[in-house]
Amino acid sequence: MRALLKRAADRLHAIEDRLTVRTQIAAAVAALSIVLVGTLAAGAALVSYRHTAALIESNLAGIASTTSARLDRFMATRQQEMKLFAELQPMQRLWQGNPAELRSALEALQHSFDFTWIGFADLDGNVVASTGGLLQGKSVAARPWFKQGLERIAVGDVHEAMLLASLLTQRANNEPYRFVDIAVPVRDASGKLLGVLGSHLDWNWASNLIKDVEANDGDTDTQLSILSKGGVVLVGPQRETTRYAGESLSGILNARDGTFRETADGRQLLTAFHVGRGYRDYQGLNWIVTASQPASVALAAAISSAQMIMAIGAATALIALSLAVLLARRIAGPIIAITQEADRIGRAHGPTMLARQSGSAEVVQLSRALRSLLRRIGLAEERTKEAELRATENAMQLQEDLLKLRQLADTDFMTGLMNRRSFLAVADDAVAFCRRYKRNMATLMIDIDHFKKINDTHGHAAGDDAIKRVAEIVNQSIRTTDKAARFGGEEFVVLLREIDQETAILLADRIRASIESATVRHGDTVIPLTVSVGLALFDEGDRDVQDVIERADQGLYVAKKTGRNRTFLMPAEDERAARAA
Ligand code: GH3
Ligand code: MG
Ligand code: MG
Repeated sequence: MRALLKRAADRLHAIEDRLTVRTQIAAAVAALSIVLVGTLAAGAALVSYRHTAALIESNLAGIASTTSARLDRFMATRQQEMKLFAELQPMQRLWQGNPAELRSALEALQHSFDFTWIGFADLDGNVVASTGGLLQGKSVAARPWFKQGLERIAVGDVHEAMLLASLLTQRANNEPYRFVDIAVPVRDASGKLLGVLGSHLDWNWASNLIKDVEANDGDTDTQLSILSKGGVVLVGPQRETTRYAGESLSGILNARDGTFRETADGRQLLTAFHVGRGYRDYQGLNWIVTASQPASVALAAAISSAQMIMAIGAATALIALSLAVLLARRIAGPIIAITQEADRIGRAHGPTMLARQSGSAEVVQLSRALRSLLRRIGLAEERTKEAELRATENAMQLQEDLLKLRQLADTDFMTGLMNRRSFLAVADDAVAFCRRYKRNMATLMIDIDHFKKINDTHGHAAGDDAIKRVAEIVNQSIRTTDKAARFGGEEFVVLLREIDQETAILLADRIRASIESATVRHGDTVIPLTVSVGLALFDEGDRDVQDVIERADQGLYVAKKTGRNRTFLMPAEDERAARAA
């Protein structure tokens, strides 16, 4: 069970995630409306049903009691008429007089009142006179009305009178005659019993009364019946049948009036009953008047009021739903706006900050929190960038420093030319290249003439200036592929790449001549300068660059020895050997 509930909850969550707030609120409101309207309509239908049923029941009870009272009053009146007639002074003479006269008196009574038959029987039960002469001369001694009538006023319950009926003309609708008897003892002035005045009332009047009431009620659904105290239908549907018996009958007779529900022909009926109580002298015959109406009438009223409530409820629900959708749109609007804006953040040309959103405290808070988050993210990003930049800067600086250091390590401090170490490395590579590709290269060894004298005459600083100037001239005279270095003191070595002997001699001598013609100033004094140059070309016999430099140095020695301010090419060993030979 718990697992089932959990699964249902998970399913609901999964659905919820797919639905918008608008749809969810609308669905919730719709569900709430349906439950509310449904409950209200059901409640209203129930209340209305009960109310309508009670109203119908009380109406039916009224009809039943009124009808019952009318029946009783009618009977009481008839009984009173009979009694008055029997006691009428002018009649005293006729009871034992001429039967023909009595008959016409009886017929007068019959016409003025609504009796079917009136007859006077003597103490032996022989009919002395009667209306229409019917049963005249016949004996009614055995009839209950006669026997009871000898003693008191008696009313006989509804019955068929075969004998009399056969004498009466047939009725239009062929219905059998039914009679109620009223019997009154007839006495003379002294009170001596003379006989019994009996009458038969056609029961038809009761049917008419019912029809009258039913018509007056206006409600064609109301069904009236008159039942005998034995529960047999006297007037109404299914006449002559027993409608109530046993307990239900005794219940009705005991209660005398009330309402109940019953099922007849598969239909639910609301039935009110009233048992006749008699009227004045009339004791009553305990006739039961029932008034019934189908319960569906009450139900229909209830259903129509429920339908009305449903319609009102549906309209209200529709309004509530529209309001809910509008409300949901208002609630969801800022959230959708935030989502769309947030989606653009970080994309190309997208914004970097969210606009302020409002609409509810939560939205304001959400907007504030997101803006603060973005600010923090931006700050962190900037810091990272800065750190990266600084790291790059540091790395570059380091590289620069390293380059400077290397340059510093490779450069002669005073002249800016290469120093001995860096020159030898480059020169070694050049020698290896020349050997491999059979190319030419040459080295010059340059030394300032009588430098000691310059130092001595002009001072050490002037000597330094002279060294710098010579370095400058040498550097300007060579190609970018050639390299010049200071080998210490006032001695310079130059590496000339891809050069033949002739050009090398020309270049060496041009350097020499340039220095000779240049003026080296120190303060106001002009210092004259010359250099001697030793030249050597790379030879296949050379083991390394040192061998070439060595030969250039030998050339320099020769230049110095032979008068200075000149260039001397020192040939390789085999050439010298060849020359010597
Ligand atoms: P030569 O024509 O034979 O070369 O005569 P020289 O006087 O130039 O002789 P040498 O080349 O042997 O003398 C080198 C002198 O240069 C020795 C030293 O006092 C001087 N000297 C060496 N290094 C420096 C320096 O850096 N600055 C100065 N001012 N003088 C230096
Ligand atoms: Mg020297
Ligand atoms: Mg010198």
